[in-house]
Amino acid sequence: MQTSMLINGELVQGDGEALPVLDPATGETVTSIKEASAEQVEAATRASEEAFETYRLTPPGERAAYLLAIADLIETNIEELAELETLDVGKPWPMARDEEMPLVIDVFRFMAAAARTQTGSAAGEYVRDHTSMIRKDPIGPVASIAPWNYPLMMASWKIAAPLAAGCSMVLKPSEITPLATLRLAELMQDVLPKGVFNVIHGRGPTIGDQLINDPRMEGISITGSPATGMAAFRAASNQVRHVHLELGGKAPVIVFDDADVEALAETIRFGSFFNAGQDCAQPCRIMVQEGVYDAVVKAIADQVGKIQIGAPRGEGTEMGPVVSAAQRERVASFVDRARDSAEVCVGGAAGDGAGFFYQPTVVANVENDAEIACNEVFGPVVTLSRYSDAEEALRVANAGRYGLASSVWTRDVSTAMKLSSQLRYGMTWVNTHGMPTAEMPWAAMKGSGTGCDMSVYALDPYTSIRHVMVAH
Ligand code: NAD
Repeated sequence: MQTSMLINGELVQGDGEALPVLDPATGETVTSIKEASAEQVEAATRASEEAFETYRLTPPGERAAYLLAIADLIETNIEELAELETLDVGKPWPMARDEEMPLVIDVFRFMAAAARTQTGSAAGEYVRDHTSMIRKDPIGPVASIAPWNYPLMMASWKIAAPLAAGCSMVLKPSEITPLATLRLAELMQDVLPKGVFNVIHGRGPTIGDQLINDPRMEGISITGSPATGMAAFRAASNQVRHVHLELGGKAPVIVFDDADVEALAETIRFGSFFNAGQDCAQPCRIMVQEGVYDAVVKAIADQVGKIQIGAPRGEGTEMGPVVSAAQRERVASFVDRARDSAEVCVGGAAGDGAGFFYQPTVVANVENDAEIACNEVFGPVVTLSRYSDAEEALRVANAGRYGLASSVWTRDVSTAMKLSSQLRYGMTWVNTHGMPTAEMPWAAMKGSGTGCDMSVYALDPYTSIRHVMVAH
């Protein structure tokens, strides 16, 4: 198993403390990986600073060739990388390979194209006898931090856009799920010039903190919790740095009386419990118009009650464990606190076995301002609550602190258009939920972050707009 970091083109073991990596399906230790020392973090940031001076000058076509080569390497090693994701996070096999890896690969291929298609204002004489032109240049070395829920997919979003924009980088995966990212680092070792892409391993409050505060890094890019996003802003405020944040979510699913209830229930069964619900866009806060509330509760309870929970490699497993004992405890405590004022109609308990299993859970009759309706649970739990009309649904949904994913379920085009134009969420789906595609932004508003991943707009946080004027 590959346990080395990648610093300045060399695979090196960490000089710091060894951190255990657990298999969430059994609770057993898979391996221990030494985290970086402070000197190694500095070596990585120094390497990225030096490499930036030449990488920033590479023509877009060359950067595209690097990204296409990385995509091909991932495709060639798809089985092994997906197996590492299953081992690290407890994802059901073969979902890790068939549902996630195609997007990981496509993000690199899309960004290869995006590198070559930057747009802007026309050059021209905006002042007589002076020609002005707009340049879009890479901002500098980027400190990039990834979460544990989709380690490789999040890494692909973190890696492909800055490399496409011409930035060098240091990436830190989550310390609890580093396996696939470290293997990707090994695969990428000879693809890029030394120092352009570095990977370090270690805990957030120490190694991550050092990385985002390093004066050599011009950009800080984080996918993670709001608390880590705030740490990024604090670090950036000390030195005035670019910040790109993709943080938590609490997606409202707004269901009108005329919705297709069966289609909704099937989407919830798959989308809310995929990855054991540990998904920033998880359709989790189901808000139902009064006329169809009982039918929706029944349809969703029926579907969720059928979800097969089990070992990631078990026959027919639809949902595996959550990532850690601490995460299971967090999920369980949310559900337990909700019991007094709401009804747990499916699940609500730990699953069998030594792994970190928690049953797929439906909590009904939840007040719109209840803790479990407003805060991110990040586990296999959905809530159901009532509303009376579109105005109330909009008011309740927009009052939430998060602004990532949302969906509207109706057969009425004007209701769909009104809601989708007025929801303050980076993404709104109509009659579906959570479908990603590399061409479209994974966009955040409000407490869910700044900017987006994927799409051509993902290059913006890594790009400075410049004006060059020539007198003649
Ligand atoms: P987390 O914030 O605990 O950890 C994320 C990463 O930040 C890890 O690598 C961690 O080591 C690092 N980190 C923690 N504290 C740090 C600090 N002080 N300085 C620097 N780095 C630090 O989040 P998590 O539990 O790994 O991930 C779950 C969260 O991520 C959820 O809130 C989820 O919604 C969010 N998420 C968002 C998106 C999105 O696209 N918006 C995608 C996936 C996950």
